[in-house]
Amino acid sequence: MLYVSTRGAGPVPLSTALELGLAPDGGLFVPATPIRARDTASPEAPNDDVDSSSQPWTSLADRLAPFLPTDWSRAEVESLVGETLAFPIPLLELEPGIFVLELFHGPSAAFKDVGARFLARALSRDVTRAEARAWSRAEAATESRTVLVATSGDTGGAVAAAFDGVAGTRVVVVYPEQGVTELQRRQFTTLGENVRALAVPGPFDECQRLVKQALAAPELSERFRLTSANSINIGRLLPQMLYYWLAADELHRQGVHERPTFVVPSGNLGNLTAGLMAASAGVPGASFLAALNRNDALARWLAHREIAANQATVRTPSSAMDVAQPSNLERLQWLERAQPSALKPLSGAEVVDDEATLDSLRDTWRQTGQLVCPHSAVGLAAARRARAAGASAPLIVLATAHAGKFPDVVRQATGVSPELPPALAHRWVGPERFERIAASLNELEAVLTHA
Ligand SMILES: *Cc1c(COP(=O)(O)O)cnc(C)c1O
Repeated sequence: MLYVSTRGAGPVPLSTALELGLAPDGGLFVPATPIRARDTASPEAPNDDVDSSSQPWTSLADRLAPFLPTDWSRAEVESLVGETLAFPIPLLELEPGIFVLELFHGPSAAFKDVGARFLARALSRDVTRAEARAWSRAEAATESRTVLVATSGDTGGAVAAAFDGVAGTRVVVVYPEQGVTELQRRQFTTLGENVRALAVPGPFDECQRLVKQALAAPELSERFRLTSANSINIGRLLPQMLYYWLAADELHRQGVHERPTFVVPSGNLGNLTAGLMAASAGVPGASFLAALNRNDALARWLAHREIAANQATVRTPSSAMDVAQPSNLERLQWLERAQPSALKPLSGAEVVDDEATLDSLRDTWRQTGQLVCPHSAVGLAAARRARAAGASAPLIVLATAHAGKFPDVVRQATGVSPELPPALAHRWVGPERFERIAASLNELEAVLTHA
């Protein structure tokens, strides 16, 4: 598979798309040709006889392989998939017909672990290759890479965990000082020397703008070998397709044979875009409902095909979705132009306000005894509305983070303090290291130069 920019550049191989993060023309990389389910080796209906505990990655690797370079061996793809999904992703029926896909059992307790783990491995795989080539030509490959990441809270921790201690790579996390919880911040301020944290006074959108500016500045981007670990990087979206396939297979295994509707709590729209890609490549008939907080750019785009350029970010209890100008809207617009059938499964976007988010969190706790994070609560609210409006398909709500990452909001809604899993509760306790910068390219460049 080759990749092209939403603005026309390319095609380039995957390694180049991963390495650059953002296309040189400012666009986002997308698969150059559509992959339809029938092109993949896996049968449409999963085989119930397959023992999922022994070889769960085989059919997932089959479905992912068409997106990867042909010189990645089958064994390599399987082990990459296995390392990416090296934690449980259970599918639980929370209420009749409403399932929750728990994506938060990874190292940083949010779904972004999946994308970050794959990206870290895929990038270092290519470093190894490049170094081997350089070495064989007797050239030293000492130049290290800088992974720039803007975070609305959870990407920073996932990427920091995935790249912590990875040789030849430094991670620079840019975050909104007022927009993340203490635990989210500790996940990227207490790690090794190769992870730096930069606090910006404004909202996430400013962090994202700064990162994009840096990547699009040719001299800067080349000097520091910059790439991005945000969902602008296609290397984040490819592995996120895996759990849509996993969930569809698991639903089938649980005896539910109707095609599911995935309810996706969305901010930057990376997760949703990955779902739509996964649907055309391997879950035919699935549909998607985006669940939004008051940052509703997608809903407005779906209704009017309009994108407001200067939309202000609104702060909500689901802070990781506080994104006014979602990057991946550019991929959805491209899909609509280039592969309209790929956008069809998106049935709509449900906007859930702050009060309804807290109500959903509280109702879920009272009715099921489960504490969910505020983002998952937005998803559950959207699912219940869809059900009340007559939706009959099984609904799979993506539970995007562990409730324990958002103790204040969860306590406010339920009166109960959520606990992190014991294995995570005692991490990230050391001294914090971060610097404050203005959201300007000059200040970022100064930090990159002197770090
Ligand atoms: C990042 C994030 C989201 C939004 O995902 P996008 O891919 O940016 O739409 C939702 N929930 C949580 C907990 C997140 O960290």
